[in-house]
Amino acid sequence: MIEDAAHGVNAFYKGKALGSLGGLGAFSFHETKNYISGQGGALCINADRFRERADYIRDRGTNRKQFTRGLVDKYTWVDVGSAFAPSELTCAFLLGQLEHLEVILEHRRAAWEFYRRRLGQLAAAGRLTLPVLPAHCASSYHLFHIVLRTADEREALRKHLLGSGVQAVSHYVPLHSSPMGRKLGCDARPLPVTEDISLRLLRLPLFTTITPEEQEYVCTCIEEYLDSHG
Ligand SMILES: *Cc1c(COP(=O)(O)O)cnc(C)c1O
Repeated sequence: MIEDAAHGVNAFYKGKALGSLGGLGAFSFHETKNYISGQGGALCINADRFRERADYIRDRGTNRKQFTRGLVDKYTWVDVGSAFAPSELTCAFLLGQLEHLEVILEHRRAAWEFYRRRLGQLAAAGRLTLPVLPAHCASSYHLFHIVLRTADEREALRKHLLGSGVQAVSHYVPLHSSPMGRKLGCDARPLPVTEDISLRLLRLPLFTTITPEEQEYVCTCIEEYLDSHG
């Protein structure tokens, strides 16, 4: 299993770190994530049998790592690959954040809990659905979403928020309905739940430095819209 743990850095499932569940796990440090280096990511190699080939692929398809370790007298091309290693500057930028891993997580957790608390009444009134965190999952609090009652309501609220200066976005086009998904034959079976939720889901702004005042404004805009559109 290759685990897409792109935004799962510092998150856990039944006590096991995401990225460690499959034979290989991939993290993203893209600028939209919790811990960023602009672009790039990390590959977690959880099974020894993948280690050697991963080194080749990272190093332009060469066995250069064996050369720098003195295991071969010159390096050569042994596999496919590219220049996947991040630069020193990129690493330094990222390290500064990894040193504050828990501080960043705590800011995001507080912001996530703020939304959940503040929107609780609307959820209790059946106007929207809030995310649920099972007890055996420790979240990275990468994103916060709400689910509206209909696709039309989601679109109308999204536009209302945009008009109020709040960028809320959908997330995502279901993969099986994308051109590549169809090309790979993934549309043979309907996925009605995925299709339904993707049309009703809205992501609210969540970033490490968001303030309670900014979140209060987002929630007030949502409340005003839903109150005036019965
Ligand atoms: C961000 C993200 C990706 C893409 O990560 P990149 O570093 O941009 O390649 C893939 N899968 C998930 C679940 C993500 O959140």
